[in-house]
Order: sequence, then structure tokens, then C-alpha cells
Amino acid sequence: MSQFKLGAKSLKELDGVHPDLVAVVRRAIALTVQGFAVLDGLRSVEEQKRMVASGASQTMDSRHLSGHAVDLVPWVNGKPRWEWGPIYRIADAVRIAARELQVPLRWGAAWDIDFTASQSLPENIVSDYAARRRKAGKKAFLDGPHFELPKALYP
Ligand SMILES: [Zn+2]
Repeated sequence: MSQFKLGAKSLKELDGVHPDLVAVVRRAIALTVQGFAVLDGLRSVEEQKRMVASGASQTMDSRHLSGHAVDLVPWVNGKPRWEWGPIYRIADAVRIAARELQVPLRWGAAWDIDFTASQSLPENIVSDYAARRRKAGKKAFLDGPHFELPKALYP
């Protein structure tokens, strides 16, 4: 049993998020070795506009607008920390939870694969993704805390 649980703010962020994704987040917090907070679930159009303007997001077509995405940020010593080590451990827990619950997920650190079905370590998935993007002459937009339900299956 994990020592972590979702705080009141995290639970509030899950309001309006698709129940399949909420179930994954709730299972992941029970499994994880790294604490996390839900910093963003459902987002308003105004919030999304601000995020695009600041460069924190790249699209007005975000899955956060429809309640199909969450950002799970490492929580370290009472603060959110965007660090890859802890992000990988959260990704481990999310993937185990998603497999158990049979929920397909996309991960913001490797947008082009089915993360739930993936087999490699999260750190290798990210480096492989970055290499694929480089090879295609494109920049890799890496958003490690972001998980979403695929549009094809959850329109
Ligand atoms: Zn996100």
C-alpha cells in the first residue's frame, strides 16, 4: 500500500474529468512510490488561452478542455517539482493502473505511442520518442506530467 493520497486540491482538479481517467489517477496514487498532485484536470478556454500565450501549452485543441487529460506533477517536500526522475516513477504507477483498468492512455512525453501498451522503461520511451522526432527533423515537445485519453477512442 502506498503512503500517498490525493489532497483536497487534487480531488477538486478531477471534477469534470472523464471517469475512466479519474479511476486511473485514483489507482495510481495507491500504487506510486512518488507522491504527486493533480495540478490540472478540466481547463476553461480562458485558462487554455493563457497557457498557450505563455508557451506552457501548444494548442487550443487541448484534451484538458474536454476533461480528457490530467497533469500529475511530482510533489516533493510540499511543493510541485518538474523533475524527470520523479516524473518517470509517476509514469510507472500510471501505466500499471491503466493496464489493470484497461484504459488506453497517451503520455505527454511520447505522444505517438499507446503508453498503456508500452513495455520499455519510461526513461527509454522518452529518449526513443525524442530520437524519432529528431530523425523527422522536428522538435520534441515533452510534457511529462500530462496523461490523456486518446481522441480516437474517447471523442
Ligand atoms: Zn496537460
